[in-house]
Amino acid sequence: MDAEQFREFGKAAVDYIADYYETIRDRPVLSNVEPGYLGDLLPKDPPQSGESWRDVLEDVDRIIMPGITHWHSPHFHAYYPTAQSFPSVVGELMSAGFGVVGLSWIASPAMTELEVVMMNWLGRMLGLPEQFLNCSEGPGGGVIQGSASESTYIGLLAAKDKKVRELMETNPSLTEAEIKGKLVAYSSDQSNSSVEKAGLLGSMKMRLLPTNSEGQLVGAALQKALDEDKRAGLIPCYVVANIGTTPTCAFDNLEELGPVCNKENIWLHIDAAYAGSAFICPEYRHLMKGAEMADSFNFNPHKWLLVNFDCSAMWVRDAKYLVEAFNVERIYLKDQHKGLAPEYRHWQIALGRRFRALKLWFVLRIYGVEGLQKHIRGQIALAEYLSDLVKSDNRFELCTCSMGLVTFRLKGEDSLTEKLLEDISKKKELFLVAGHMNHKLVVRYAICSRLTEKRDVDFSWRQIIETAEQIIPTPKK
Ligand code: PLP
Repeated sequence: MDAEQFREFGKAAVDYIADYYETIRDRPVLSNVEPGYLGDLLPKDPPQSGESWRDVLEDVDRIIMPGITHWHSPHFHAYYPTAQSFPSVVGELMSAGFGVVGLSWIASPAMTELEVVMMNWLGRMLGLPEQFLNCSEGPGGGVIQGSASESTYIGLLAAKDKKVRELMETNPSLTEAEIKGKLVAYSSDQSNSSVEKAGLLGSMKMRLLPTNSEGQLVGAALQKALDEDKRAGLIPCYVVANIGTTPTCAFDNLEELGPVCNKENIWLHIDAAYAGSAFICPEYRHLMKGAEMADSFNFNPHKWLLVNFDCSAMWVRDAKYLVEAFNVERIYLKDQHKGLAPEYRHWQIALGRRFRALKLWFVLRIYGVEGLQKHIRGQIALAEYLSDLVKSDNRFELCTCSMGLVTFRLKGEDSLTEKLLEDISKKKELFLVAGHMNHKLVVRYAICSRLTEKRDVDFSWRQIIETAEQIIPTPKK
């Protein structure tokens, strides 16, 4: 394909995406296809000679689009949002167009340097403690990872390396293997699956501690677990605090967890994957009070800040611990500019890195802080609107409403709520998933799409009550 054809193909693809967004509200959010549908529509082997881009684009419409779940439909309310915006899409396109890999500063100076500045911009927007910023006096800094899962795992590996080094220095009789076999990590029973996975991948026992009736991990529960483990000869190493849990968007008590971790010399990582974006609005920052006691902090602009997947922002209080844990040098990676800019390959798992800062820069400039604040506040207001509707119908029980997430259930047995969800899913007009709150089954309703408006929440509520009517008819007056 030459540059001229690329112009045509690219323009047609941009038109296709723009048309898609103009019609997305009218499409059923869930697809109708059955498992294995695509295998029957595609040839068994790839084409021997190249085909025309027009045929390829036509096939996108014919066979791919029917199997797309419309994550950005204003009627998508499952999981948590995944961000999308046009400035970000263009940022992705340009990043792919440049096709650079930032494995060192010289491998693309603009890539490292834009990332440093963007992480400082973002950190300031959130009101993060200064110590986390690259521009602070101290050894802190920010980096863009691919996911919150990676950030939690990287925090765990750094904490492990730090603890092993410290203990081998203070207890020369202990072997590395002995120490590693005794390390323990902690989070809450409300933490995301990725937290447990970090323990599995990092070969560290992960204890998921009980939370209070609001789904929060508090200091006393953590201290109790640490005391038990220390008595059993184990070595507490890593704590993941959840700032916005996946089931109900609950906030662990950082002001209690922080002092416990600091006193016990345990690495405290904050997983604010979803809710972290809300801290760009000063009125929500009280929910991260105590963050200055953490060793690492992570949130996903790719969830709620209009930056397309993937873009996960991670800050550490002291980057030395990442570099010590992950530094593997080779002659071909040598860079004469060493020391003047972070060598981000030592802050992550892979050697290669994508130019993610570009799309972040586009979004921050084109929306501005005020535009992004408006987006967050608007989505929270829509969640509050739905929670009022739920409260107005006495067949329903409102369980939680936090940030852009509402959980509710039909009063009575779990089987009623299960049936409600099942019947709604069959209609394919709304996408909702189940959750648990205090051992009861709940419907999780997240405001996800940037296109969702009040009329869409009204549409949802009509669907929900019409379906509920079949399960628990309104009593006749
Ligand atoms: N942490 C929390 C609280 C989440 O809600 C999620 C995903 O929803 C994750 C971590 C995982 O995020 P990622 O897909 O970026 O790994």
